[in-house]
Amino acid sequence: MNTSQHAPTDACHGVHCYAHHVDEPDAGAYRVCLECGHAYRTPGELRSAYRRTVLAVPAAGVPWWWRWWRAATARATQIDYCPHCGATL
Ligand SMILES: [Zn+2]
Ligand SMILES: [Zn+2]
Ligand SMILES: [Zn+2]
Repeated sequence: MNTSQHAPTDACHGVHCYAHHVDEPDAGAYRVCLECGHAYRTPGELRSAYRRTVLAVPAAGVPWWWRWWRAATARATQIDYCPHCGATL
């Protein structure tokens, strides 16, 4: 597996992740984003990426406590978009 950052080429192993510019392992991932190619290896990985996104991006009209609560309680099965590129999972 190619873990250094690079541009996508035909030689890419597995899935090339356009969010991080690395190759993701395509086997055994919990979910793989079809848009950017990021592989979430476990439900926990998806949740922590989601939590970071929810807390980092201020949404107009959404109170901070709601975002905090949302980040703290979201389950991987309820997350229906890719935190890295926003595409539907
Ligand atoms: Zn690649
Ligand atoms: Zn994505
Ligand atoms: Zn990635």
